[in-house]
Amino acid sequence: MERQSAEKRVQELHETLNQYNYEYHVLDKPSVPDSEYDQRLRELIELEDQFPDLKSPDSPTQRVGGAILDFFEKVEHRTPMLSLGNAFNEQDLRDFDRRVRQAVGDDFSYVCELKIDGLAVSLRYEGGRFVQGATRGDGSIGEDITSNLKTIRSIPLKVKETAAFEVRGEAFMPKRSFEALNAAKEERGEEPFANPRNAAAGSLRQLDPKIAASRNLDIFLYALAEIGDMGIESHSEGLDRLDELGFKTNPERKRCATIEEVLEYVEEWTQGRPDLSYDIDGIVIKVDALDQQSELGTTAKSPRWAIAFKFPAEEVVTILKDIELSV
Ligand code: NAD
Repeated sequence: MERQSAEKRVQELHETLNQYNYEYHVLDKPSVPDSEYDQRLRELIELEDQFPDLKSPDSPTQRVGGAILDFFEKVEHRTPMLSLGNAFNEQDLRDFDRRVRQAVGDDFSYVCELKIDGLAVSLRYEGGRFVQGATRGDGSIGEDITSNLKTIRSIPLKVKETAAFEVRGEAFMPKRSFEALNAAKEERGEEPFANPRNAAAGSLRQLDPKIAASRNLDIFLYALAEIGDMGIESHSEGLDRLDELGFKTNPERKRCATIEEVLEYVEEWTQGRPDLSYDIDGIVIKVDALDQQSELGTTAKSPRWAIAFKFPAEEVVTILKDIELSV
């Protein structure tokens, strides 16, 4: 593509992606399936690679998704809440593996986890008590949704660790709660939610915690942030520690020594996904050792030590059907 047409296309993609982001993150009401969003984002990334001067700091490729609603108190994240780079096929995963190897050598392992399709949240504990819960927002600033998060029964309000720390995870709506909620909404003549992810996000951003409480949300915690001197050296040790402290982590995680094992895990869950009682939209692959994570570092938007494999778009049909229902 010539530079002039590339510039025009980049502009168009900025506008479209900003609109999609707004519908998804602010309105909790996407107008297109995720696969379409991902495809356009990918096109923009490729154009920016080809014409680096067209990459601006406000490009949708440089920003962590969300926006912050005014009616909640703002919370500044002490450690940024980043997004994840995406992989769509085996080659993307092999390229990721090659980049990791180039940076840290051959002696490392991965942890593979299910990518829960919900809303990223951060929980802060001080003196053994849950003191604040926030959305990811734009990655630096989120919304204080403590009261709504307290309605999730699996979040411990007290823990046996008095040092201040934060845990991060994904709040989600189990498939059964989602179906019951939409059935009740339709009975009342209200617009149904497009998918469990939007329903979870919409529920946690209600001003009245009673509404969140009625929505039967749940959570899986997947990271300890600000571990201080807890003596943790790897991501998997961090997850085990979360278990000991009484947090709910996802039991399907697996340590993998090679990319071949990672690919097997991806294949297993591409098949096994419909049997889960909650939605997943991919697999997250993380380098396990924390010192190797530091060596790899992060970009402005995502860590270089992790990647999200996105499942092929089986949702296209269902989401379009839901959107038809909701207009
Ligand atoms: P992402 O969903 O690709 O990945 C990052 C997120 O994964 C993290 O923030 C975390 O919340 C989540 N996650 C789930 N399980 C995890 C685990 N085990 N470990 C670590 N993280 C885990 O990126 P994003 O920036 O959150 O959002 C982009 C997503 O939103 C894409 O799926 C995109 O398709 C969708 N989107 C859709 C539209 C639309 O219009 N349809 C618009 C904007 C964004």
